[in-house]
Amino acid sequence: MSEAGSKPIGAASMDVVVVGGGFAGLYMLHKLRGLGFSARVFEAGSGIGGTWFWNRYPGARVDIQSLEYSYQFDEELQQEWQWSERYAPQAELLTYANHVADRFNLWPDIQLNTRVTGAHFNEDTGRWAVETDKGDEVTCRFCVMATGCLSAPKGDAELPGSETFRGDSWHTGRWPEAGVDFTGKTVAVIGTGSSAIQAIPIIAAQADHVTVFQRTPNFSVPAHNGPIDPAVVADWEKNRDAYRKEARETGFGIRYVSMGEQAAHEATPEEQKAAYEERWRYGGFALLGAYNDLILDRDANATAAKFVHEKIHEIVKDPQVAEKLSPKTYPIGAKRICVDTGYYATFNRDNVSLVDLTEEPIETITPAGVKTGVEEYPVDAIVYAIGFDAMTGALDKIDITGRGGAKLKDAWSAGPKTYLGLMVAGFPNLFLVTGPGSPSVLCNMAVAIEQHVDWISDCIRWMGDRQARAIEATEDAQEAWVAHVNEVANTTIYPFANSWYLGANVPGKPRVFMPYIGGFPVYRDKCNEVAAKGYEGCTVAA
Ligand code: NAP
Repeated sequence: MSEAGSKPIGAASMDVVVVGGGFAGLYMLHKLRGLGFSARVFEAGSGIGGTWFWNRYPGARVDIQSLEYSYQFDEELQQEWQWSERYAPQAELLTYANHVADRFNLWPDIQLNTRVTGAHFNEDTGRWAVETDKGDEVTCRFCVMATGCLSAPKGDAELPGSETFRGDSWHTGRWPEAGVDFTGKTVAVIGTGSSAIQAIPIIAAQADHVTVFQRTPNFSVPAHNGPIDPAVVADWEKNRDAYRKEARETGFGIRYVSMGEQAAHEATPEEQKAAYEERWRYGGFALLGAYNDLILDRDANATAAKFVHEKIHEIVKDPQVAEKLSPKTYPIGAKRICVDTGYYATFNRDNVSLVDLTEEPIETITPAGVKTGVEEYPVDAIVYAIGFDAMTGALDKIDITGRGGAKLKDAWSAGPKTYLGLMVAGFPNLFLVTGPGSPSVLCNMAVAIEQHVDWISDCIRWMGDRQARAIEATEDAQEAWVAHVNEVANTTIYPFANSWYLGANVPGKPRVFMPYIGGFPVYRDKCNEVAAKGYEGCTVAA
């Protein structure tokens, strides 16, 4: 890795600033360079990789099969990279990100250990002024926020008394690079989302005792992870282009979650069971594709939920624990389904216990451990697997001001408003990669990121060709898009869960469905149409 880009740049002027050095920021930089634009990536971490840099908790791995969760913009990159497991572990994903940075010589334009603190649009010059915590002051024509959807961890301050705890504690999304040895320790894990569900089996295998504090149970399906099957790889390599294309034509941008063509009610209960069983055996998100109405119709959805409840009861020996682990308050899939390796079976271990916070809410963290309304649980260590201020949290941390000095935070005080999840009215020449209002987290992120980066770079090139000064979404186009995003969400089961998709996991956050659930192909076609019509819904200033 070259150190060149890691030194603060100070006062500088360039075409584009990219905020964030995850999968989105890396590809954005590569594209911009290819178009001949000067650009710099600012990355807060001491390394690149975004999600895969920060989330090093035990068991962290991707929940989309590795073959599909990768870049497809470069044929040679696709050919040379080999994944070792069906679902790649965090360390391998991080190595992949670094390989991409090496391969495309991105390092000189990446500045690590640097958090962007402010970005201000100057109406007189038509340029952005970007400030960092290292004192850099960079002006640029375009500012691209590649800040990630799940990159702002919720603070442990949400749990009163956390600052008094005498033992060690970590948030899963800020795991120490050196790792953590739980040998001989009693551990509390707070939260039962995807992060906890991946971490708990590994921590339990090491620690003396693990107490899991569960507020809401999650639906989890087995990953059936293991070394990647050479026959699957050979088939993928032979048919890669066709398979990638097929994936891009699915709603979630994932080929293996092929949607059944039948509605659930068209099948008998026996047929349903067989279909769910087959997909359970296959593993991962495939289960939700068994019928074409599982995310649209609550009755259909209930058939899949019942199947998972039965599975939990089959796996977990103590029926009372199994019942507590069975989600009953929301439809399956309305919170992101988890993909696990031995999660439910972990509750059969003697050294694992479950505390149901609906029966005994946490009152406070104490110097010795976790105190609920019923008792105090003394522990040596606490793992906060409490999630993220999703989709808007990372942007909220930056002081972003647009035309007239308006703050993005204020513009979004009732929930984020964007045009296509890509642009914001009042904030010219600012682009979001996988912003709220785009499929983003409801799509294979690798697919979503490439589509966004391609669209943004096409737009920047188009602006350059015309020597146009500024592009900005109109309020009308933005309002219409926001209304459409909500309208589509309301035809699905998604609003029926208190999920992070709705901001419901962050106290005080407006309840607005943030990602676009209309499906990747519909969304991509809309973006292409907007561009083909000379950026319809935007004003372009000469
Ligand atoms: P999460 O899904 O938001 O789960 C957080 C958990 O903490 C929930 O069980 C939540 O309960 C609980 N919680 C939050 N605040 C709490 C509080 N104050 N007191 C007690 N419990 C509290 O977060 P996550 O597990 O980090 O996952 C977030 C997303 O990241 C996932 O949905 C997924 O998209 C992505 N992710 C993916 C993978 C993967 O497999 N590749 C792994 C990890 C994460 P409530 O449900 O009641 O709010």
